[in-house]
Amino acid sequence: EMDTQAWQVLDRAHYLHPFTDHASLRQTGSRVAVRGEGVYVWDTEGERIIDGLSGLGCVNVGYGRPELVKAAADQMSELSYCQSFFKTTHRSAVTLAEKLTSMLPDSLNHVFFQSSGSEANETAVRLLRRYWNLVGKPQKRVIIARELAYHGSTHMAASLSGITPMHFAGGDLPLPTVTHIKTPYQYRNGFGMDPEAFGILAASWLEERILEIGADNVAAFYAEPAQSAGGAICPPMSYWPEIQRIGRKYDVLLVVDEVVMGFGRTGKWFGRDFYGIVPDIMQVGKGLTSGYLPLSATIISDRVADVLIEQGGEWAHGYTYSGHPACCAVALENIRILEEEGIVENAGKVLAPYFKAKLETFADHPLIGDVRSVGLMGGLEIVKNKATREAYDYEAHIGDHCSAEALKRGLAFRANGDTMSLMPPLVITTEQLDTVFDIAREALDATAKHFGV
Ligand code: PLP
Repeated sequence: EMDTQAWQVLDRAHYLHPFTDHASLRQTGSRVAVRGEGVYVWDTEGERIIDGLSGLGCVNVGYGRPELVKAAADQMSELSYCQSFFKTTHRSAVTLAEKLTSMLPDSLNHVFFQSSGSEANETAVRLLRRYWNLVGKPQKRVIIARELAYHGSTHMAASLSGITPMHFAGGDLPLPTVTHIKTPYQYRNGFGMDPEAFGILAASWLEERILEIGADNVAAFYAEPAQSAGGAICPPMSYWPEIQRIGRKYDVLLVVDEVVMGFGRTGKWFGRDFYGIVPDIMQVGKGLTSGYLPLSATIISDRVADVLIEQGGEWAHGYTYSGHPACCAVALENIRILEEEGIVENAGKVLAPYFKAKLETFADHPLIGDVRSVGLMGGLEIVKNKATREAYDYEAHIGDHCSAEALKRGLAFRANGDTMSLMPPLVITTEQLDTVFDIAREALDATAKHFGV
């Protein structure tokens, strides 16, 4: 039997973690998770952590659902793998593709599968190139994305992301056909304005950039319905209809990355339902399987797919694990659970208002400058000076400090920059939310004390 320390030694020696400062990890060691059930995860020390983050915004139905295990096992026993490159298909992928399109507007009719959100974004960009080439407008190549966006960690997805350390890490990103505009982040980009007027202003930044570049050169606008990794940035309701209008006016396609928002995060099935968006291409991942197996889908409108199908010949794009049978079977079962148990509806009608009210009680905390939320995604932005909105120096790592204080007390509470984020599983109860917010407050109080506030 290996104890926690023995696992930590092996972990440090061989396992390079994603998005991790390994020098710091060497000092603290990793928590070694062993089991999950509902909204809780237990570690090798027997300590219970309430997962305020749904893993990475994916475990929407909670941990340990036996139906999902069974769906995977049944599918693996029957047909463990199936390629669909050479005119072969299988029932789970077909059923899932049909199911996804039935949940979306009529124009969104075609589905391409990959394993991750990053790969879904690669598919979307390759598709944009293919589409504009086939319709005789190959010069439409520039993609307008947003500051603080997160679209993944492959080369193109990291380029689309607007988190600058990701660009510096590679030295040569973003790729030259990607440009970023400011985002509907009212606290920093439109403080004090009427929110709906601010939404219109923020959308006008898209039009401005299109005019700068020339509409003939712009392939698409690329965005999350609300930004999660950027720090829970939730646009006013006026933003998206105006974006959609501008996109149509200049024939700029709209690509909507629903990797986090999809499957109930906003309290509606998709962020597009919440904000009233009809995308040309839309990506889902994460909550599609509640994180039980890796699967993402790029959902494609008739406008784009018809050209690809009728004029394209072979589209030289695909992955070994596109439409993996077990992943598709788990996604179908996950959607059945979400539907039959009314989880998305409950998240929107019961949990989201409770979550928002609780979150807003933090507005008068001495460290908190701004409180933001949509559905079951929320952010508390830490500032050094509430009057001037001045932020702490990056080197202070105050958000990480708060996150560590929370974890000590049994809550996974993440820092996105200096914004403390919460996105609990959609099956959380109001009593469990009370615990989440009690610990969050203790962690913030301890952080304030440590920083002399
Ligand atoms: N898109 C969004 C909006 C995300 O938040 C993420 C991951 O956090 C991704 C894409 C990338 O997904 P993956 O990590 O599965 O590649």
